[in-house]
Amino acid sequence: MDRRSFLARTAGFCAASTCFRAHAAIERGGVRIDTVSDGHLTVPRSFLFGDTPPDDLAPILARHGITGEMLEPDCTLTLLRDGERTVLFDIGAGPNFMPTTGTILDTLAEIDVAPEDVTHVVFTHGHPDHLWGVYDAFDDFAFPEAQYLIGRAERDYWLDPKTLDRLDAMRQPFAVGAKRILDSLGERLGVFGDGDEVLPGIEAVGTPGHTPGHMSFAVGDVMIVGDAVANHHVAFEQPTWPSGTDQDAGEGATTRAGLLDRMAGDGMAMVGFHLPFPGIGRVERDGTGYRFVAGEE
Ligand SMILES: [Zn+2]
Repeated sequence: MDRRSFLARTAGFCAASTCFRAHAAIERGGVRIDTVSDGHLTVPRSFLFGDTPPDDLAPILARHGITGEMLEPDCTLTLLRDGERTVLFDIGAGPNFMPTTGTILDTLAEIDVAPEDVTHVVFTHGHPDHLWGVYDAFDDFAFPEAQYLIGRAERDYWLDPKTLDRLDAMRQPFAVGAKRILDSLGERLGVFGDGDEVLPGIEAVGTPGHTPGHMSFAVGDVMIVGDAVANHHVAFEQPTWPSGTDQDAGEGATTRAGLLDRMAGDGMAMVGFHLPFPGIGRVERDGTGYRFVAGEE
């Protein structure tokens, strides 16, 4: 079986509605930002909403028409092209995470971006759906020319051998995978800190809580938030409620509230990894919380 037919086969597992979708979104002074699908997760409700009392959650879920126990959040990468660089924010899940993820190579092929065109991959954090796609089904680099950049604290956290023992059983495979991949990148992996200009026009914004070194990125008036705002049901309406996906729920809530306040106050566009595809919108204040308004402008 050659590489192409293998990739076509694995892509066949995902639902047709979430495969290979790319969305040309935002253009600002020679910088073009697209969002590109890596498929979707399939996770139980409890994984997203954590310890939130069911009675509190029920009216919000009802407003969003959620009745089932399993949810399918989209996984949407951000692609930035400025004529010189082709930058992916996060790299997707690769072939070994879930059967409904890992479609990014096919998505990029749909918009004529070849794997070797990608010059940089900038990670928000080290969870599998954001990192494991460094290698393809043949354990070769999915993007053979790319340099990789990750927050210093995030790298140090996943490379620390003690991290494995501090995680619950469900997340322990996350640590094994992250350490193996980050270790293997060697010289190809660069690091940055909060407030650094990661690449020209791209500023790192520390947003810890989902993971200890989670980073968002400001590109002019566009904020790429990764998983700092990881769902569209509760995160906007009740940003300070604990999210089941945040490793430190308290810190994640503080970060989320601050980030939403900044984006609403500054009128920024936002791009969220797990928001409904294409994952782009704006934040408006709504009573004591916020509202997500999908769309570019
Ligand atoms: Zn994620």
